[in-house]
Amino acid sequence: MHAPELDKVLNVTDGTLEFYTPAEAEDGYYPWAAEEGYAKSTNQGVDSSYVDATYTIPSASVVNTTVETKAGEILYFRYRVSSESTDRLYFYIDDQQVNRWSGDVDWAVYFCQLEAGTHVLQWEYTKDSGAARLEDTAYLDDVYVGAPKAVTGVEIQETASVAGYRRVQLTWDVLPDVASNREVTFTSSDESVATVDENGLVTGVTQGEAVITVTTKDGGFTDTCLVSVTGDQPPVKIYGFVHCLSAGRQDGLPAWWLKTHWYTFFDTNPGGAEEIGMMPDATSDEAVSVLCAELVDDTVYGYTMDGRFFAMDFDSLQRGELSVEYKNITRYDDFYPTEMSYDHSTGTMYVINYLCDLYEVNLETGEVDPDSRREIYGYLPGANDGLMTCIVGFAIDMIGNAYVMIAGFGAAWGGNGCSRLASLDLETGEYTVIGQTTAQAYQEQSMCFDPNTGKLYWAQWQTPYSPEVMNLFIVDTETAVLEDCGKIGEYGAGVRGMFIPLCEHDSNVKAVEERAATCTEEGHTAYWQCQTCGKYFTDEKLTIEISWEDTVIPALGHKTELRNAKEATCTEDGYTGDEVCTVCGETVKEGQVIPANCPSKAFADLNTDRWYHEYTDYVIAKGLMNGMDETHFAPEGSLTRGMLVTTLYRLAGEPEVAEPATFSDVKAGRYYTEAVAWAEENGIAKGITDTTFCPDKAVTREQAATFLYRYVTEYLEQEPATGADLSIYTDREAISKFARTAVAWATAEGLLQGFPGGSLQPRGTLTRAQMAKLLTILDQKF
Ligand SMILES: [Zn+2]
Ligand SMILES: [Zn+2]
Ligand SMILES: [Zn+2]
Repeated sequence: MHAPELDKVLNVTDGTLEFYTPAEAEDGYYPWAAEEGYAKSTNQGVDSSYVDATYTIPSASVVNTTVETKAGEILYFRYRVSSESTDRLYFYIDDQQVNRWSGDVDWAVYFCQLEAGTHVLQWEYTKDSGAARLEDTAYLDDVYVGAPKAVTGVEIQETASVAGYRRVQLTWDVLPDVASNREVTFTSSDESVATVDENGLVTGVTQGEAVITVTTKDGGFTDTCLVSVTGDQPPVKIYGFVHCLSAGRQDGLPAWWLKTHWYTFFDTNPGGAEEIGMMPDATSDEAVSVLCAELVDDTVYGYTMDGRFFAMDFDSLQRGELSVEYKNITRYDDFYPTEMSYDHSTGTMYVINYLCDLYEVNLETGEVDPDSRREIYGYLPGANDGLMTCIVGFAIDMIGNAYVMIAGFGAAWGGNGCSRLASLDLETGEYTVIGQTTAQAYQEQSMCFDPNTGKLYWAQWQTPYSPEVMNLFIVDTETAVLEDCGKIGEYGAGVRGMFIPLCEHDSNVKAVEERAATCTEEGHTAYWQCQTCGKYFTDEKLTIEISWEDTVIPALGHKTELRNAKEATCTEDGYTGDEVCTVCGETVKEGQVIPANCPSKAFADLNTDRWYHEYTDYVIAKGLMNGMDETHFAPEGSLTRGMLVTTLYRLAGEPEVAEPATFSDVKAGRYYTEAVAWAEENGIAKGITDTTFCPDKAVTREQAATFLYRYVTEYLEQEPATGADLSIYTDREAISKFARTAVAWATAEGLLQGFPGGSLQPRGTLTRAQMAKLLTILDQKF
C-alpha cells in the first residue's frame, strides 16, 4: 500500500522516495503512521501473543521503499526506539538484516554507503509475546538516499561540568544532518585538567577549566566546549563476587564463563575488574558460589549456593588472600538467600530470600530467626496473580534507611523486567515505590551503599536473553534516576555480594595549602583530603569533615576603572576609555575610538584658522546657532535682533511661552515669534519703541550687550559683576544711555572687547562670529 503521508514525513526536502506499508493486520503486520513530522510504528499496545499462539508470527510494523542508486550514493536516516529489549527495530537492505535496535534509544543517525543498483530498504518493528515496556514504539525520520553531502559545520554543547576522576559524555551535531562523513576528533586544551577520548567522553583530572575542541574530519570545521572540573571524587573501590558468567557463547570475546571469584573494580572503570581469587575448598570454578555477602567491620559474612554461611577476614581479602570460615547450616526448604544488608544503626544483619521474605540473621551461626520473618512479597503487585516478581537489590544506608530494587514481570508491573527502586520498612516489610528506573532487571544482581559518599550502587544485569551486559549504576535514592558508571563485564557477569568498605582514612592523605582567589579564578581554603575516599577535612587529624564546596573561595571579580578616556577634538580622535582592573591589570573591556569631529567644517565659509573657530564649533555642536543654509554659516554676516533673541531662547532651552509678543511687527509664525514673546515675558526684549521690536534689523554691539545683560540679570536672576571703566575708550560718548550699564558689565565680563586704536564701536553691528563667541562665554560662564 503506497503511503503518500509517509513520503512526506520520511523524506528529506529533496527526496523522491515512495514508501509502502502492508495492509493493516495482515498476517500480524501493521503499517507505520505519519505523525508530527516522523513515522511511528503502530503495533504499540498489540499483545502479539494473541496474534499467533504459536509465536511464529510476531506483531510487526513494516515499511519499505525501493531505491535506484548510482555509485557512491549513501543512505541516511534517523531512528528512535523505546521498548523492551526483546522488542526490536530491524533494518533490512535487500532482505539482509543490517542492524537492529532495542531498549531506550533516543534519536540517532544511521548512515551507510550503498552499492549501485536497485535496493529494497525495509524497517520492521517487532514485538515478542511479552508485555509492553516504556513506549513500546519505534520511530523513523528523514530517510535520505542520494549523493553524499559535504559537512558544513559542527556544533558541540557550550559547557560541561565534571568532578575530578569522573566522566561526562559530550554531545555534538555534525551539520547538515545528512552529511556523509560524520567522523570527528577531539582535543583538550589542558590534559592536566581534563582529558577527552575519541568518543567525546571527558574525564576530569584536577580542578580547573579546559577547552575541548571538536573537529570534523571532512572540512576541518571546529567548535568548542568549556569544561569545568570541580572537586575531586577519586574512584570508589568496590568488592564483589562474580557469580554467573555465561560467556563462551560468543567466540573470540572475553570468556567470563562461571568465574566464581572475588573481584575488585572501580566505579570509574568497572570493566577493568581485577580478580582476587576463588572461594577456598572449591574444587572447580563452578563450586562454592556466593549468593550474597556483606561487610561488617573487619568481617565479610555471606551465604553460598550450597547452603553454607561463611565469615571471611576482610584484611586478608584486601591482601588478596581468602581466609574463609564455613559454618555449615542446613538450608530451609523455603530459604534461599539472595540479598543481604547490615543496619549499622541497630547492629542488625538482614537477609532476603527468593520468596521475598525478610529475616534477621544471627551472625554467629548464620541462622535466621523465624519469628523475624516479614513478607515483602505479599505487598508486591502481581503477587496474587501468580506473576513473578523478585528483589534484585537490597541496601541499608549508614543511618538505617533501607532500599530494595524490585524486578517486576507481567502487565500488572508495567512489563517484563521493569525495575523499581523502593524504600523498605524493616519493621513491617512494607515498601514504598520511589520510581521506575530506565534499566531492566532479572537476577544475579547486587546493590550496596558507599558508606563514604552515601551513594547507592547497583550492579544491574540487563537481560539474560539479548546483549548481555552487566552495568554499574549510581541510583538516585530520591528519584530512581540512574547514573551510568560503565560496564562491569559483557556477556553476562552476575555480581553478587557487592560491598564498599568504610574508609579509615589511614593512609594517603593529601594536605592542600590555602590558595587565594583571584579576580577570575576561585581559590580554596587549606584542607586535607583522603585520597582513598575523596573526603575533605579542615584539620590534619581528619576530624571535621567538609564538602568540596566548603573549601571554595569564590573568584573576586575584577574591580575596574576607566583609563585612557579622551574627548575627540577637531583634529584628534577621542577614546571612550578602557575598563582596566585595578587589581590584576587586565583590560576587561576595550574602549572605542571617537572619530575627530570639527562641526565648523560642515560650513564652507568657516575658516578653522580664524579666531572664532572654537566658538563656532561650540555653538554649532550645542545647536545654539545654525547655518544660513546647509553649507554656509556667514561668520561675517550681521545678526538681526530676531536671530539674537532666538539664540538666547535656544540657550534657555526653549521654554513654553504663555502669551504672544505685544510688538506690532512681530508676526505670528516667524522663526523668532516664540523667542521674542519669551524675551518680552522675561524682560529681555523691550523693543525699539513701545510697540515695535524691529526683528529684522541688524543688532548693534551695545544692543547685544543689553540683551545679554538682561538675560543674566532678569532671566537667570544673577547679580551682575561691577561694570568696567568705560572712560578708556575713545568713542565712549557714542554709547547710548540705555546701554551704558550693560556695556560696562559686558566689557568687565570679557564679552565685549575694544578694537586696536582704543575704540569700542558700540553702534557697530555684531557679526554672527562675534555672537558665537558671546553665546559660548554666556553658556560656559553663567
Ligand atoms: Zn577516606
Ligand atoms: Zn582583575
Ligand atoms: Zn573645529
